[in-house]
Amino acid sequence: MDNQIQIPLNLPDLRVLEVRQTLKSEWLIRVESVAGGTTCHKCGERITEFHGLDAPLRLRHLPLFEVPVYLELRPKRYRCRRCEGGPTTTEQPSWYQRRSPNTTAYEQWLLRIRINSTVSDVSHKLQVSEATVTGVLERWIETSVNWDALSTMAMIGIDEISLKRGRSGVLFAIITTKTALGVQVLAVLGDRKKETVLAFLMGIPPHLKQTITTVCTDMYQGYVNAAQEALPQAVIVVDRFHVARIYRAGADAVRKREFKRLKQTLAKPEYALLKGVMWPFRKRPADLQPAEKIQLNRLFVASPELEQAYTLREQLTDIFDHDHTKETATEAIKAWCQRVRRREIREFDAFLTTLDNWLDQITNYFLERQSSGFVEGFNNRIKVLKRRCYGIFDVKRLFQRLTLDVNGYQRFGTA
Ligand SMILES: [Zn+2]
Repeated sequence: MDNQIQIPLNLPDLRVLEVRQTLKSEWLIRVESVAGGTTCHKCGERITEFHGLDAPLRLRHLPLFEVPVYLELRPKRYRCRRCEGGPTTTEQPSWYQRRSPNTTAYEQWLLRIRINSTVSDVSHKLQVSEATVTGVLERWIETSVNWDALSTMAMIGIDEISLKRGRSGVLFAIITTKTALGVQVLAVLGDRKKETVLAFLMGIPPHLKQTITTVCTDMYQGYVNAAQEALPQAVIVVDRFHVARIYRAGADAVRKREFKRLKQTLAKPEYALLKGVMWPFRKRPADLQPAEKIQLNRLFVASPELEQAYTLREQLTDIFDHDHTKETATEAIKAWCQRVRRREIREFDAFLTTLDNWLDQITNYFLERQSSGFVEGFNNRIKVLKRRCYGIFDVKRLFQRLTLDVNGYQRFGTA
């Protein structure tokens, strides 16, 4: 007997009647409630007159040493003498939810394991059916936003994810908001049409809608039009990372073109020295190792145009890093455009057009920079989440999955 231990069950108002192992060697703990009463479902008063026992319930609980554990309970039924006819009410202990086959502790544990994981992963790891995993998800994760849980929004983000379906992609618009704890998903919409986004934004309860001061979005007219119409008071900001993606692609296009030329014009050993220079080319000057600087300089001697493209790219990033006002940023960006036009680097043409169309929203970044950036952080997470969303094309399922992955540790983590 000196290799046995006693473990507290840590569930309230219970008495353990028996512990035994089943034929499958699982632990079965028979328990009895000692709460001594419940609340009458008719009058809401506390009732304590014992009436009888309900049929036994078997609930899955947290495993012990990887051995499955079940609790067996016969819920007690109490009679109310205040209400006419003396109706009876079955007790509802706090440690499980009605109609759930598991204890709450078990379900929260499963949800923690389910974070950043797929249903089939969890089903394998915990040796439960996929239906069990999905059932827990259904009981705990809402399929659309609960507006009552929000008191203010301040900033929302409109973004999208594209999920593969066969050979084509399906686009879903994702609406998020910034909260004290990070990001919360407000909606997953089945397409990115203006009317779809507008309908959602118009449906935000008015007291919350009027707290929105900033909308972060990509350069997509449908989103911007919907936001302007539904939220006329809000400032529309194109976040800098959306902008950077375009001008960095411009510089990369110059790199590809120049490398083709260099391959034909340089002697083979010289060209070989440029191998791998793409990585330093993508870095900021401050991040370059000494060897990378030498490599990059060698490249720039061979291609002055690439040096120009690199310098222009970095100058623009510097503008976004600098503590500009909207007005001074606008001037700086316009001066930058002049320099690009003088150098006639065609690969930046698309970006110059983008600036012509979006300069106002792009420079709004300088009004809101302290609060901006959350969309970017969220976007990076979405990239990771996308793989796990494989095969899900139902907006409710996507909402659940994104919500659990983004907020699961806050909601179901242990303290
Ligand atoms: Zn009553």
